[in-house]
Amino acid sequence: MTPTAHRTPHTAPINPLDPEPDPPFGRFFLPGPTEVRPEILAAQTRPMIGHRGTAMVELMAGLQPGLQRLFRTRRPVYLAASSATGFMEAAIRNCAVDRVLALVNGAFSDRFRNIAESNGLAVDALEVPWGEIHDPGMVADKLRTADYDAVTVVHSETSTGALNPIEQLAAVAHDAGGVVLLVDSVTGVAGTPVESDAWSLDFVLTGSQKALALPPGLALGVAQPSALERARRKTSRGTYFDFLDFEKNVEKNQTPNTPPLSLLYALQAQLECIDREGVTQRWQRHQAMAQRTWQWVDAMNQRGVALEVLAPPGGRSPTVTCIMLPHGIAGPEVTAAMSERGYTIGGGYGRLKDRAFRIGHMGDHTLEQLESLLGHLEEALLK
Ligand SMILES: *Cc1c(COP(=O)(O)O)cnc(C)c1O
Repeated sequence: MTPTAHRTPHTAPINPLDPEPDPPFGRFFLPGPTEVRPEILAAQTRPMIGHRGTAMVELMAGLQPGLQRLFRTRRPVYLAASSATGFMEAAIRNCAVDRVLALVNGAFSDRFRNIAESNGLAVDALEVPWGEIHDPGMVADKLRTADYDAVTVVHSETSTGALNPIEQLAAVAHDAGGVVLLVDSVTGVAGTPVESDAWSLDFVLTGSQKALALPPGLALGVAQPSALERARRKTSRGTYFDFLDFEKNVEKNQTPNTPPLSLLYALQAQLECIDREGVTQRWQRHQAMAQRTWQWVDAMNQRGVALEVLAPPGGRSPTVTCIMLPHGIAGPEVTAAMSERGYTIGGGYGRLKDRAFRIGHMGDHTLEQLESLLGHLEEALLK
């Protein structure tokens, strides 16, 4: 493990007088923020426009069809200058009235629970161990025990790499009657099937810096009429994330306040690329990268390194894999060894910090780039 003097893009001091060439694309595998291609970064340098003028209306109108193809919806897609957490809070403030059932199976679903609690709601959690997914039958049973009006769930748990069966969970939530399903699909949308309309996801949200491979700072979400109906009944929706205000504005191809224009330029460029690739092809590319990663873990076991994918087969996310380490190898050692090789991977999240690492095989990475990463990882682990 000899350190090479490699500059990683996100830790280097920025000194315009001493520019170093940017490292090549394809070495930054954090599960968010993900690596952004130079063309997309460059799209952000276009000049500002007035956000109440016709240029803005044209920009927004031009974004909607691509966004709707991505979310598989006929509804308009809301955009906000916010990280994804902002839209988690928006979901609660607009759609949850009294009692929330929070499905918790990792750090981000626990955050969703906390957001509901901190907004003064009565919250029950249905918890399963980190790494596991929620069983629709168990959720249906739990929904019968009290009068819930909203269920929160994380589609792809970025802390564990588990993928919840959202379509089935939406079905049991709706069977319960009077319940809306609020879905954090931050590492789902653009990386794995999300059928906003066909699955009747009452509100589904994502952020720009995950599978969309854009810089951070933009929240995106789709509210079904059921969510708007809820919002109409809620009196304290707040101001910044008021869905009724978003709806009124998006109908005119506007935003409630000044949008992050530079990010919208990047989004426009990225949506064109996504359309060229095709949304389903993008999902398949992610699935192929995930499967290759799981297969590599099996191969490492055959070579005597007892790695383990945390999430169970059938419940694994196509965008992020959390890999448990055998005793004697600490998570931070692995991420450090990779960083010496010029690669960035994710550490174990929170309580898994010492025992795991994570690979964010999402965004614009290719199978070939993943293959190089795994080659280096193998060297680091077998040294
Ligand atoms: C990254 C992430 C978030 C938080 O996103 P921010 O943009 O940092 O607010 C929420 N949920 C999941 C599943 C995530 O992966």
